[in-house]
Amino acid sequence: MRPIQMVDVKGQYQAIQTAVDEAVLAVIRSGAFINGPAVQSFRQNLETYLSAKAVIPCANGTDALQIALMALDLKAGDEVIVPTFTYVATAEVIGLLGLTPVMVDVDPDTFNVTAALIAPAISERTKAIVPVHLFGQSADMEPILALAKKHNLYIVEDNAQAIGADYTFSNGDIKKTGLLGDIGCTSFYPSKNLGAYGDGGAIFTNDEVLGKKLQTIANHGQSRRYYHDCIGVNSRLDSMQAAVLDIKLAKLDEYTKARQTVAAYYDAAFAAHSAIKVPIRQHNSTHVFHQYTLQVPANKRDELQAYLSEQAIPAMIYYPLPLNKQAAFEGIAKSASATFPTTEQLCQTVISLPIHTEMDDEQLKYITDKVLAFFS
Ligand SMILES: *Cc1c(COP(=O)(O)O)cnc(C)c1O
Repeated sequence: MRPIQMVDVKGQYQAIQTAVDEAVLAVIRSGAFINGPAVQSFRQNLETYLSAKAVIPCANGTDALQIALMALDLKAGDEVIVPTFTYVATAEVIGLLGLTPVMVDVDPDTFNVTAALIAPAISERTKAIVPVHLFGQSADMEPILALAKKHNLYIVEDNAQAIGADYTFSNGDIKKTGLLGDIGCTSFYPSKNLGAYGDGGAIFTNDEVLGKKLQTIANHGQSRRYYHDCIGVNSRLDSMQAAVLDIKLAKLDEYTKARQTVAAYYDAAFAAHSAIKVPIRQHNSTHVFHQYTLQVPANKRDELQAYLSEQAIPAMIYYPLPLNKQAAFEGIAKSASATFPTTEQLCQTVISLPIHTEMDDEQLKYITDKVLAFFS
Protein backbone atom coordinates (compact mmCIF):
# COMPACT_ATOMS: atom_id res chain seq x y z
CA MET A 1 0.00 0.00 0.00
CA ARG A 2 1.19 3.52 -0.74
CA PRO A 3 1.78 5.60 2.41
CA ILE A 4 -1.34 7.53 3.47
CA GLN A 5 -1.13 11.32 3.58
CA MET A 6 -3.64 13.99 4.61
CA VAL A 7 -3.04 15.61 1.20
CA ASP A 8 -1.00 14.16 -1.66
CA VAL A 9 0.27 17.19 -3.59
CA LYS A 10 3.09 15.19 -5.17
CA GLY A 11 0.87 12.41 -6.48
CA GLN A 12 -1.54 14.93 -7.93
CA TYR A 13 1.34 16.75 -9.64
CA GLN A 14 2.63 13.53 -11.24
CA ALA A 15 -0.69 13.08 -13.04
CA ILE A 16 -0.39 16.52 -14.72
CA GLN A 17 3.39 16.80 -14.73
CA THR A 18 3.96 17.35 -18.45
CA ALA A 19 1.41 20.15 -18.73
CA VAL A 20 2.60 21.85 -15.54
CA ASP A 21 6.30 21.61 -16.39
CA GLU A 22 5.68 23.11 -19.82
CA ALA A 23 3.49 25.91 -18.49
CA VAL A 24 5.94 26.89 -15.74
CA LEU A 25 8.87 26.77 -18.16
CA ALA A 26 6.93 28.94 -20.60
CA VAL A 27 6.49 31.58 -17.89
CA ILE A 28 10.19 31.48 -17.04
CA ARG A 29 11.16 31.78 -20.71
CA SER A 30 8.70 34.65 -21.25
CA GLY A 31 10.09 36.70 -18.37
CA ALA A 32 6.52 37.90 -17.59
CA PHE A 33 6.70 36.95 -13.93
CA ILE A 34 4.24 39.51 -12.60
CA ASN A 35 0.80 40.13 -14.06
CA GLY A 36 1.71 38.32 -17.26
CA PRO A 37 -0.62 36.59 -19.72
CA ALA A 38 -0.79 33.53 -17.42
CA VAL A 39 -2.41 35.63 -14.69
CA GLN A 40 -4.91 37.18 -17.12
CA SER A 41 -5.79 33.77 -18.55
CA PHE A 42 -6.37 32.26 -15.13
CA ARG A 43 -8.39 35.27 -14.01
CA GLN A 44 -10.68 35.00 -17.05
CA ASN A 45 -11.08 31.25 -16.73
CA LEU A 46 -11.95 31.58 -13.05
CA GLU A 47 -14.51 34.29 -13.88
CA THR A 48 -16.11 31.93 -16.37
CA TYR A 49 -16.02 28.96 -14.00
CA LEU A 50 -17.63 30.92 -11.17
CA SER A 51 -19.90 33.07 -13.36
CA ALA A 52 -18.31 36.10 -11.69
CA LYS A 53 -18.24 39.59 -13.18
CA ALA A 54 -14.85 40.24 -11.56
CA VAL A 55 -12.08 38.07 -10.17
CA ILE A 56 -9.07 39.75 -8.58
CA PRO A 57 -6.16 37.36 -8.04
CA CYS A 58 -4.01 38.17 -5.00
CA ALA A 59 -1.19 36.78 -2.88
CA ASN A 60 -3.11 34.53 -0.46
CA GLY A 61 -6.50 33.93 1.12
CA THR A 62 -5.80 36.07 4.17
CA ASP A 63 -5.00 39.06 1.93
CA ALA A 64 -8.19 38.36 0.00
CA LEU A 65 -10.22 38.73 3.20
CA GLN A 66 -8.32 41.84 4.25
CA ILE A 67 -8.74 43.53 0.87
CA ALA A 68 -12.45 42.64 0.81
CA LEU A 69 -12.97 44.32 4.18
CA MET A 70 -10.87 47.34 3.17
CA ALA A 71 -13.19 47.85 0.18
CA LEU A 72 -16.20 48.31 2.47
CA ASP A 73 -14.93 51.60 3.99
CA LEU A 74 -15.61 50.52 7.56
CA LYS A 75 -14.52 52.62 10.55
CA ALA A 76 -12.59 51.64 13.67
CA GLY A 77 -14.92 49.92 16.10
CA ASP A 78 -17.40 48.82 13.44
CA GLU A 79 -18.49 45.27 14.10
CA VAL A 80 -18.12 42.28 11.80
CA ILE A 81 -19.82 39.01 12.68
CA VAL A 82 -17.77 35.80 12.30
CA PRO A 83 -18.05 32.19 13.44
CA THR A 84 -15.88 31.25 16.39
CA PHE A 85 -15.31 27.82 14.82
CA THR A 86 -13.05 28.61 11.86
CA TYR A 87 -9.45 29.17 10.82
CA VAL A 88 -7.88 32.20 12.48
CA ALA A 89 -7.51 34.24 9.29
CA THR A 90 -11.26 34.90 9.05
CA ALA A 91 -11.26 36.96 12.24
CA GLU A 92 -7.61 38.02 12.30
CA VAL A 93 -7.99 40.47 9.40
CA ILE A 94 -10.96 42.09 11.14
CA GLY A 95 -8.81 42.79 14.20
CA LEU A 96 -5.90 43.89 12.04
CA LEU A 97 -8.05 46.61 10.45
CA GLY A 98 -9.14 47.96 13.85
CA LEU A 99 -12.62 46.53 13.44
CA THR A 100 -14.31 44.41 16.08
CA PRO A 101 -14.88 40.72 15.35
CA VAL A 102 -18.14 39.62 16.95
CA MET A 103 -18.04 35.87 17.42
CA VAL A 104 -21.04 33.62 17.08
CA ASP A 105 -21.56 29.90 17.57
CA VAL A 106 -22.16 27.45 14.72
CA ASP A 107 -24.67 24.76 13.84
CA PRO A 108 -23.74 21.29 15.17
CA ASP A 109 -24.66 19.48 11.93
CA THR A 110 -23.13 21.77 9.30
CA PHE A 111 -20.32 23.41 11.34
CA ASN A 112 -21.49 26.70 9.81
CA VAL A 113 -23.15 29.89 11.02
CA THR A 114 -26.91 30.24 10.51
CA ALA A 115 -29.22 33.27 10.37
CA ALA A 116 -30.70 32.25 13.73
CA LEU A 117 -27.27 32.31 15.37
CA ILE A 118 -26.28 35.59 13.70
CA ALA A 119 -29.46 37.58 14.39
CA PRO A 120 -28.96 38.12 18.16
CA ALA A 121 -25.38 39.34 17.51
CA ILE A 122 -26.46 42.27 15.32
CA SER A 123 -26.04 45.68 16.96
CA GLU A 124 -26.08 49.31 15.80
CA ARG A 125 -22.37 49.02 15.00
CA THR A 126 -22.66 45.85 12.91
CA LYS A 127 -21.59 46.49 9.31
CA ALA A 128 -20.79 43.10 7.84
CA ILE A 129 -21.03 39.34 8.24
CA VAL A 130 -18.26 36.94 7.21
CA PRO A 131 -19.80 33.47 6.86
CA VAL A 132 -17.31 30.65 6.32
CA HIS A 133 -18.25 27.70 4.11
CA LEU A 134 -16.38 25.37 6.41
CA PHE A 135 -14.92 22.05 5.23
CA GLY A 136 -16.44 22.46 1.75
CA GLN A 137 -20.15 22.98 2.23
CA SER A 138 -22.04 26.27 1.92
CA ALA A 139 -23.49 27.96 4.95
CA ASP A 140 -27.27 28.20 4.56
CA MET A 141 -27.05 31.55 2.82
CA GLU A 142 -30.58 32.40 1.74
CA PRO A 143 -31.78 33.28 5.28
CA ILE A 144 -28.41 34.96 6.00
CA LEU A 145 -28.77 37.11 2.88
CA ALA A 146 -32.31 38.09 3.93
CA LEU A 147 -31.06 39.05 7.39
CA ALA A 148 -28.22 41.11 5.90
CA LYS A 149 -30.62 42.90 3.60
CA LYS A 150 -32.96 43.74 6.46
CA HIS A 151 -30.13 45.25 8.52
CA ASN A 152 -28.22 46.72 5.57
CA LEU A 153 -25.08 44.61 6.17
CA TYR A 154 -22.38 43.52 3.76
CA ILE A 155 -21.64 39.84 3.26
CA VAL A 156 -18.05 38.75 2.65
CA GLU A 157 -17.89 34.99 2.14
CA ASP A 158 -14.81 33.12 3.30
CA ASN A 159 -14.79 30.54 0.52
CA ALA A 160 -11.23 29.27 1.16
CA GLN A 161 -12.49 25.73 1.76
CA ALA A 162 -15.42 25.49 -0.64
CA ILE A 163 -14.36 26.58 -4.12
CA GLY A 164 -16.62 24.87 -6.66
CA ALA A 165 -19.53 24.24 -4.28
CA ASP A 166 -23.04 25.07 -5.53
CA TYR A 167 -25.79 26.59 -3.41
CA THR A 168 -29.41 26.21 -4.51
CA PHE A 169 -31.93 28.92 -3.61
CA SER A 170 -35.56 28.09 -2.84
CA ASN A 171 -36.59 29.40 -6.28
CA GLY A 172 -34.25 26.89 -7.94
CA ASP A 173 -31.44 29.36 -8.77
CA ILE A 174 -28.01 27.79 -8.38
CA LYS A 175 -24.90 29.86 -7.67
CA LYS A 176 -21.31 29.10 -6.77
CA THR A 177 -20.29 29.80 -3.18
CA GLY A 178 -18.35 33.05 -2.96
CA LEU A 179 -20.85 34.74 -5.28
CA LEU A 180 -23.84 34.57 -2.98
CA GLY A 181 -23.02 37.75 -1.02
CA ASP A 182 -21.19 40.98 -1.93
CA ILE A 183 -17.61 39.67 -2.05
CA GLY A 184 -16.13 36.17 -1.99
CA CYS A 185 -12.59 35.28 -0.93
CA THR A 186 -10.57 32.17 -1.56
CA SER A 187 -7.14 30.70 -0.96
CA PHE A 188 -4.92 28.70 -3.30
CA TYR A 189 -2.72 27.39 -0.48
CA PRO A 190 -1.31 24.05 -1.73
CA SER A 191 -3.62 21.88 0.38
CA LYS A 192 -6.81 23.72 -0.61
CA ASN A 193 -9.18 22.16 -3.17
CA LEU A 194 -7.68 24.37 -5.87
CA GLY A 195 -4.10 24.54 -4.64
CA ALA A 196 -1.11 26.32 -6.15
CA TYR A 197 2.53 25.30 -5.73
CA GLY A 198 3.03 28.13 -3.29
CA ASP A 199 0.76 30.87 -1.99
CA GLY A 200 -2.13 32.43 -3.84
CA GLY A 201 -5.63 33.75 -3.39
CA ALA A 202 -8.48 35.51 -5.14
CA ILE A 203 -11.38 37.84 -4.49
CA PHE A 204 -14.58 37.68 -6.53
CA THR A 205 -17.69 39.77 -6.92
CA ASN A 206 -20.59 40.44 -9.25
CA ASP A 207 -20.60 44.12 -8.30
CA GLU A 208 -18.50 45.91 -10.91
CA VAL A 209 -17.97 49.02 -8.77
CA LEU A 210 -16.71 46.90 -5.88
CA GLY A 211 -14.62 44.90 -8.37
CA LYS A 212 -12.75 48.05 -9.47
CA LYS A 213 -12.22 49.08 -5.87
CA LEU A 214 -10.88 45.67 -4.87
CA GLN A 215 -8.50 45.70 -7.84
CA THR A 216 -7.29 49.18 -6.87
CA ILE A 217 -6.73 48.28 -3.21
CA ALA A 218 -4.85 45.08 -4.12
CA ASN A 219 -2.51 47.20 -6.24
CA HIS A 220 -1.27 49.98 -3.90
CA GLY A 221 -4.48 51.94 -4.26
CA GLN A 222 -3.58 52.90 -7.80
CA SER A 223 -6.18 53.06 -10.54
CA ARG A 224 -3.51 54.07 -13.06
CA ARG A 225 0.20 53.76 -12.73
CA TYR A 226 1.76 56.08 -10.11
CA TYR A 227 -1.60 57.72 -9.28
CA HIS A 228 -2.79 56.47 -5.90
CA ASP A 229 -6.41 57.02 -4.91
CA CYS A 230 -6.36 55.32 -1.54
CA ILE A 231 -4.11 53.38 0.80
CA GLY A 232 -3.90 49.89 -0.55
CA VAL A 233 -1.65 46.89 -0.26
CA ASN A 234 0.69 44.97 -2.54
CA SER A 235 -0.96 41.62 -3.08
CA ARG A 236 -0.28 39.77 -6.32
CA LEU A 237 -0.62 36.26 -7.65
CA ASP A 238 2.59 35.49 -9.52
CA SER A 239 2.53 34.19 -13.08
CA MET A 240 4.01 30.79 -12.30
CA GLN A 241 1.32 30.06 -9.74
CA ALA A 242 -1.33 31.30 -12.18
CA ALA A 243 -0.01 28.94 -14.87
CA VAL A 244 -0.27 25.99 -12.48
CA LEU A 245 -3.71 27.06 -11.26
CA ASP A 246 -5.03 27.42 -14.82
CA ILE A 247 -4.21 23.76 -15.50
CA LYS A 248 -5.72 22.64 -12.20
CA LEU A 249 -8.87 24.78 -12.60
CA ALA A 250 -9.71 22.79 -15.74
CA LYS A 251 -9.63 19.67 -13.56
CA LEU A 252 -11.34 21.12 -10.49
CA ASP A 253 -14.71 19.42 -11.05
CA GLU A 254 -12.92 16.11 -11.60
CA TYR A 255 -10.93 16.67 -8.40
CA THR A 256 -14.16 17.46 -6.53
CA LYS A 257 -15.71 14.21 -7.77
CA ALA A 258 -12.67 12.27 -6.55
CA ARG A 259 -13.11 13.83 -3.09
CA GLN A 260 -16.84 13.06 -3.12
CA THR A 261 -16.07 9.43 -3.99
CA VAL A 262 -13.75 9.17 -0.98
CA ALA A 263 -16.46 10.74 1.22
CA ALA A 264 -19.06 8.26 -0.04
CA TYR A 265 -16.70 5.36 0.78
CA TYR A 266 -16.22 6.67 4.33
CA ASP A 267 -19.97 7.29 4.75
CA ALA A 268 -20.85 3.75 3.75
CA ALA A 269 -18.22 2.24 6.04
CA PHE A 270 -19.29 4.24 9.10
CA ALA A 271 -23.05 4.37 8.45
CA ALA A 272 -24.02 1.66 10.91
CA HIS A 273 -21.77 2.80 13.72
CA SER A 274 -23.51 4.70 16.51
CA ALA A 275 -20.33 6.24 17.99
CA ILE A 276 -19.34 7.83 14.67
CA LYS A 277 -21.24 10.78 13.23
CA VAL A 278 -20.44 11.33 9.55
CA PRO A 279 -20.69 14.79 7.94
CA ILE A 280 -24.25 15.62 6.94
CA ARG A 281 -25.16 16.76 3.43
CA GLN A 282 -27.40 19.80 3.23
CA HIS A 283 -30.26 19.62 0.75
CA ASN A 284 -29.33 23.01 -0.72
CA SER A 285 -25.55 22.78 -1.06
CA THR A 286 -23.13 20.44 -2.74
CA HIS A 287 -20.19 19.37 -0.59
CA VAL A 288 -16.71 19.64 -2.10
CA PHE A 289 -15.09 17.97 0.92
CA HIS A 290 -12.11 20.12 1.69
CA GLN A 291 -12.22 18.03 4.86
CA TYR A 292 -14.05 14.86 5.79
CA THR A 293 -14.80 15.52 9.44
CA LEU A 294 -16.23 12.96 11.84
CA GLN A 295 -17.69 13.63 15.26
CA VAL A 296 -16.80 10.97 17.83
CA PRO A 297 -17.26 10.80 21.62
CA ALA A 298 -15.08 13.44 23.28
CA ASN A 299 -13.46 10.94 25.65
CA LYS A 300 -12.31 8.81 22.67
CA ARG A 301 -11.23 11.44 20.18
CA ASP A 302 -7.57 12.00 21.13
CA GLU A 303 -7.14 8.28 21.71
CA LEU A 304 -8.49 7.61 18.20
CA GLN A 305 -6.06 10.11 16.71
CA ALA A 306 -3.13 8.51 18.55
CA TYR A 307 -4.26 5.01 17.54
CA LEU A 308 -4.54 6.00 13.87
CA SER A 309 -1.14 7.65 14.03
CA GLU A 310 0.35 4.36 15.27
CA GLN A 311 -1.21 2.68 12.22
CA ALA A 312 0.45 5.28 9.95
CA ILE A 313 -2.86 7.03 9.30
CA PRO A 314 -2.67 10.81 9.70
CA ALA A 315 -5.79 12.51 11.08
CA MET A 316 -6.15 16.14 12.06
CA ILE A 317 -8.13 18.20 14.57
CA TYR A 318 -9.68 21.18 12.80
CA TYR A 319 -9.97 23.11 15.12
CA PRO A 320 -8.82 22.41 18.69
CA LEU A 321 -9.53 25.83 20.25
CA PRO A 322 -12.44 28.24 19.56
CA LEU A 323 -11.35 31.64 18.29
CA ASN A 324 -12.94 33.42 21.26
CA LYS A 325 -10.53 31.51 23.51
CA GLN A 326 -7.41 32.45 21.51
CA ALA A 327 -5.13 34.89 23.32
CA ALA A 328 -4.84 36.98 20.15
CA PHE A 329 -8.45 38.11 20.40
CA GLU A 330 -8.40 39.11 24.05
CA GLY A 331 -9.68 42.67 24.32
CA ILE A 332 -10.30 42.75 20.56
CA ALA A 333 -13.22 40.48 19.88
CA LYS A 334 -16.72 40.57 21.29
CA SER A 335 -18.63 37.41 22.06
CA ALA A 336 -22.23 37.32 20.95
CA SER A 337 -23.10 34.95 23.78
CA ALA A 338 -21.67 34.02 27.18
CA THR A 339 -20.78 30.54 25.96
CA PHE A 340 -20.47 28.76 22.63
CA PRO A 341 -21.75 25.30 23.47
CA THR A 342 -21.61 23.87 19.95
CA THR A 343 -18.14 25.14 19.15
CA GLU A 344 -16.83 23.96 22.50
CA GLN A 345 -18.34 20.55 21.86
CA LEU A 346 -16.96 20.38 18.31
CA CYS A 347 -13.45 21.28 19.44
CA GLN A 348 -13.59 18.14 21.61
CA THR A 349 -15.27 15.76 19.16
CA VAL A 350 -14.14 16.51 15.59
CA ILE A 351 -11.49 14.55 13.74
CA SER A 352 -10.72 14.92 10.03
CA LEU A 353 -9.62 11.88 8.02
CA PRO A 354 -7.35 11.96 4.97
CA ILE A 355 -9.20 13.11 1.86
CA HIS A 356 -7.69 14.10 -1.46
CA THR A 357 -7.71 13.32 -5.15
CA GLU A 358 -5.18 10.48 -5.16
CA MET A 359 -6.65 7.99 -2.69
CA ASP A 360 -7.21 4.37 -3.71
CA ASP A 361 -9.55 1.69 -2.39
CA GLU A 362 -6.76 -0.17 -0.66
CA GLN A 363 -5.96 2.91 1.43
CA LEU A 364 -9.62 3.60 2.11
CA LYS A 365 -10.28 0.04 3.21
CA TYR A 366 -7.26 0.18 5.50
CA ILE A 367 -8.35 3.48 7.08
CA THR A 368 -11.99 2.48 7.59
CA ASP A 369 -11.00 -0.96 8.94
CA LYS A 370 -8.73 0.67 11.51
CA VAL A 371 -11.30 3.26 12.58
CA LEU A 372 -13.92 0.52 13.00
CA ALA A 373 -11.43 -1.72 14.83
CA PHE A 374 -10.80 1.12 17.29
CA PHE A 375 -14.51 1.36 18.11
CA SER A 376 -15.21 -2.39 18.20
C1 LIG B 1 -6.82 28.64 4.31
C2 LIG B 1 -7.85 29.54 4.87
C3 LIG B 1 -7.70 30.93 4.91
C4 LIG B 1 -6.42 31.65 4.58
O1 LIG B 1 -5.81 31.36 3.38
P1 LIG B 1 -4.23 31.60 3.20
O2 LIG B 1 -4.05 31.46 1.72
O3 LIG B 1 -3.53 30.56 3.98
O4 LIG B 1 -3.92 32.98 3.67
C5 LIG B 1 -8.76 31.70 5.36
N1 LIG B 1 -9.89 31.14 5.80
C6 LIG B 1 -10.07 29.80 5.81
C7 LIG B 1 -11.37 29.25 6.31
C8 LIG B 1 -9.06 28.96 5.37
O5 LIG B 1 -9.24 27.63 5.42
